[in-house]
Amino acid sequence: RQAAFRTNLSVLLDQVGTGKESLSFMKRRIRRLAQQWTTAANRLDVKLEQQWRDQKKILVHVGFLTEESGDVFSPKVLKGGPLGEMVQWADILTALHVLGHNLKISMSVKELQGFLGVPPGRGSCPLTGPLPFDLIYTDYHGLQQMKQHMGLSLKKHKCHIRVIDTFGTEPAYNHEEYATLHGYRTNWGYWNLNARQYMTMFPHTPDNSFMGFVSEELNETEKRSIQQNKVSNMAVVYGKEPSMWKLGKEGFLEILHRYMEVHGTVYYETQRPPEVPAFVKNHGLLPQHELQQLLRKAKLFIGFGFPYEGPAPLEAIANGCIFLQPKFNPPHSSLNHEFFRGKPTSREVFSQHPYAEQYIGRPHVMTVDFNNSLEFDSAIKEIMRTKVEPYLPYEYTCEGMLERVHAYIQHQDFCTPEPPFMAPNLTREGSTIGSRMIASLFVALPNSTALGWASNVSPPAAWPPLSSLRLLVSQEGQSCVEACQSAGFICEPAHFRFINNKEALLEVQCEVVDSEINHILPAFSVMRRECGLQREPLLFSCAGHSPKYRRLCPCRDFRHEQVALCRDCL
Ligand code: UDP
Repeated sequence: RQAAFRTNLSVLLDQVGTGKESLSFMKRRIRRLAQQWTTAANRLDVKLEQQWRDQKKILVHVGFLTEESGDVFSPKVLKGGPLGEMVQWADILTALHVLGHNLKISMSVKELQGFLGVPPGRGSCPLTGPLPFDLIYTDYHGLQQMKQHMGLSLKKHKCHIRVIDTFGTEPAYNHEEYATLHGYRTNWGYWNLNARQYMTMFPHTPDNSFMGFVSEELNETEKRSIQQNKVSNMAVVYGKEPSMWKLGKEGFLEILHRYMEVHGTVYYETQRPPEVPAFVKNHGLLPQHELQQLLRKAKLFIGFGFPYEGPAPLEAIANGCIFLQPKFNPPHSSLNHEFFRGKPTSREVFSQHPYAEQYIGRPHVMTVDFNNSLEFDSAIKEIMRTKVEPYLPYEYTCEGMLERVHAYIQHQDFCTPEPPFMAPNLTREGSTIGSRMIASLFVALPNSTALGWASNVSPPAAWPPLSSLRLLVSQEGQSCVEACQSAGFICEPAHFRFINNKEALLEVQCEVVDSEINHILPAFSVMRRECGLQREPLLFSCAGHSPKYRRLCPCRDFRHEQVALCRDCL
């Protein structure tokens, strides 16, 4: 069946249910953004020009909100608990509904069992029949519950699963045996999924898919009125829990106060939290729309280093604030910071909000060394005299999210077996871009026989399409994430299978070509003239790097402000 866009959200609101603060928070959000979703749906409908969209049967099982996982979040919602997750789930549900899919929502193990048609009760009861869904969106908690209650059949059906995973999971942590043998084992990883089945909150690592969320978009009239009503000496501090303010004690709050009126939205019960200095005008935790109003007046939104990578800075920038945040030197990661410890990624975080720093930047975002009081001081002065317009990258608008989720649903397929590793006919195009890239630029043009398919059967079309592939070679020690980025592209893990062959290594002149199980492959060692191909497709990794190796990197182009999609991806 063809999916039709929906603009009426009442069925969705009924499906979300009642009785918990987390659900009320999500429903308030869905209602507040309803008009924006409608406008976005209409625009995307026109943009897609009657393109056929399959209606999918989708189950959303929100694991972290189930009683069975302890539901630690619902009681915290009113106290400023991790609202970011709630924001994202509300937006995912809305996007799937608006795109017109056949949606079921489960927030308990009992509902999960009901929808899957497995007998209720404890213990592992394998699902015997076919899976009644095309897609299941869940989180790590939900995955664990499905394992417990679907038993062996989970393995059979896992290609249908998408895991909402805020900070991301790198391939080396996801491959159970490899993770165990090489010290990448954590409490979360080891599910042996395709790493693109993990969907993140920001485009952290291209190994995963970027799901995201939305922020409110302003119309021209609103933008103008905001700019007229900005109070140039008003700052709002990012941090709704008192513990987040401890980081701000080092005196920069004092410096800030010299120039600006400081506002906070820190949760409190009866008394002002001792972490919040007396000169701060604390509003307490605000409902989302009231926070937006506060941000509309403020000139500066300032982070103290925690929370990492949340939605609030995007909301602030969308409301015309400049976001000032600390640079991390050395960068924070699971190797040196408690918060990231045990998370299935070794990604290094160079500031509180790397997306804001890299994808938005000046004049909307300033990333400075907070320990350098001169630098900090001059940043504040600069912010007070800089005029900025409210700004929201397209990928965080409702239309951008609908477009991206639509593309994933229609094109990402982890169930159809991929054709065997192949050597496409690599046609050279152009020459070396800079001396770093030994193997210049290739365009791969495989025909079906080269793909290992009988010539009368056409292979499943690659997505992203092969036309987007650009082969690059990294520097020693550099990952493909960095190598592609520095050439203005993005690493595309789906393209690894096309470059994991001797032909792609043509110009490297290897003396030996081995194939091994190692997440930095395909790569080659310049010193030893040894080339290595990847033997385990699950370990294709954009993130991998190693000091002695130059990596072979499958890069691709991307759309302006929609990094998840290549030019020909829609
Ligand atoms: N938020 C809110 N009231 C407040 C402060 C924050 O409703 O007083 C909302 C905010 O609009 C944002 C969400 O909380 O959408 C998540 O905020 P944050 O960036 O702090 O991320 P988290 O740490 O909760 O994931």
